[in-house]
Amino acid sequence: MIEKLNFSKITLVVNDLSLPKTILNKKIEIIKGGKYRTISVKNALLKSKYKAKNVIIHDCARLVCSHKLINKIANLITKGNYDCIVPYSNCSDTILDKDKYLDRKKIKLIKTPQAFKKSKLLKLHKLNKNPKLTDDSQLFTEKFKKFEVKFILDRYINLKITYKEDLESLNYLDYKDFRTGLGYDIHRIIKVTNKQYITLGGIKILSKAKIISHSDGDVILHAITDSILGALSLRDIGTYFPNNKKNFRRNSKDFLNFALEKMRKMKFLIGNIDLMIVSERPKINPYYDKMIKELCSLLNITENSITIKATTNEKSGLIGDEKFIACWSSLSLIKN
Ligand code: ZN
Repeated sequence: MIEKLNFSKITLVVNDLSLPKTILNKKIEIIKGGKYRTISVKNALLKSKYKAKNVIIHDCARLVCSHKLINKIANLITKGNYDCIVPYSNCSDTILDKDKYLDRKKIKLIKTPQAFKKSKLLKLHKLNKNPKLTDDSQLFTEKFKKFEVKFILDRYINLKITYKEDLESLNYLDYKDFRTGLGYDIHRIIKVTNKQYITLGGIKILSKAKIISHSDGDVILHAITDSILGALSLRDIGTYFPNNKKNFRRNSKDFLNFALEKMRKMKFLIGNIDLMIVSERPKINPYYDKMIKELCSLLNITENSITIKATTNEKSGLIGDEKFIACWSSLSLIKN
């Protein structure tokens, strides 16, 4: 989830260094944690290869924290006026401490992610005598210390998965806020003697296979657009962009951006996208890397959220006869 925010420096602190390869990514550094949370954080601060002025610390037990909250915290700490940014939520339950009821209006439920000036956080961790502290902000907020601490009210769902039954609430949220979409597009192609530029996956390709279409004929972008609209229950591309004068030779990025805007307004983001192109010509593999880069930038996703599978139709049917090119897109949307 945090990966989707495109941070360039991510440190993962773990118990066991033999992680499954699927979660490893070039920009994530892995550091071994300690017996207590404070030791894990201190290890990360001391051993990280990243030079940074500020640091954001998040517990992976809170796996549905909102992107808005992370962005808000990142912006606040970058401005430089605070040493520590702490999200909290109000307490709505009645609290009994042994035999005394506490005033819940005075209670703050402290959460992560929290942001800090790195040098100050490291200094406090080095001075800390209590390894069992449950939270880094505690180092800044004890009465006698004078730091600029900013508390911000977190109104978003930011569940902490501590007990087995907490998972049930998470499953419920997942079920409610997860959608899938399927898109399909096919266009006629004709063979031309001299190579011409065609548009596929948002990039220009020089080819002897010319795509016939009312718009620019980008079957990949059309299929993706339809899969997004489908996942949002908003019908299809033809509903919004009929074959009229205005859409003649239209850049397919307009269709895609229209669907992406609808998606953002409904507060979804792309989880992953799986594309299947069927064509004899043009061959997709030589353009794979360029196409993936372009699609990642258009869709604002990272490379491990997308794949393109290209296949031929084994010379059978109209696609096999190089008369058509087709594309399927299957994607998932996650509530932001
Ligand atoms: Zn099309």
